[in-house]
Amino acid sequence: MTVDPDRLRTELERACEDAGLDPSRWVVWIVDGVPPAGTTPIAYLQPAGEVRTDTVIVFRAVGVKRARPHRLAAHRLAVWRLLPGLPDAALGPMLRHEVEHARRWERSGTAFYDADERLRAGMGRSGYPQLPTEREANAAALAYARRILTVAELADLRACGEFGDLLACDPVPPDVVEATLALLGETDVSGVRPQTWPQGTVACGPLVEVVAAVSALDTRLGSP
Ligand SMILES: [Zn+2]
Repeated sequence: MTVDPDRLRTELERACEDAGLDPSRWVVWIVDGVPPAGTTPIAYLQPAGEVRTDTVIVFRAVGVKRARPHRLAAHRLAVWRLLPGLPDAALGPMLRHEVEHARRWERSGTAFYDADERLRAGMGRSGYPQLPTEREANAAALAYARRILTVAELADLRACGEFGDLLACDPVPPDVVEATLALLGETDVSGVRPQTWPQGTVACGPLVEVVAAVSALDTRLGSP
């Protein structure tokens, strides 16, 4: 698949509508290139997040200078433009997965998202399918795929190895927040609350931009 900006915008608006989120609070960078082997093709950066040296490669390719001005004002998404081996039908469900992470941020807030990221860091990428928030996003993507795709398109996706996890039918914990904190060994839910956009920030999207990957040097600007 080659990710086309106009199509991405349309698919993002559709996925946001499905999730009940405002599409104008999104900024998307389509990075001109192919994902390096073994790295994620698409990634979501929560509104309070920063691009750092340990951030996924696709966001380091977007770079701090592009990502930071939208901090606390938008959900940010980065995807490689060229995704060999992925069928066109994958785009909608992929976006719906990331939109579900954004929905969780809006429902449970930055403090919870930070906890989820601590758990992620501890589990490593191979542990992602166990994460309550991943299961939640996968379930949303699967339900969405079943609604918008034809049987043949769904079969194509299932045949595509990278989609094994995304279309997994793993059970979602009844309370994603509680399950996440339990895995971390934490019980304090006092910081978990619905998140609103800070006053004075404006919705300016969806902004969808095709960009060149920043140089390796620039990607280090965000180091703590
Ligand atoms: Zn995810």
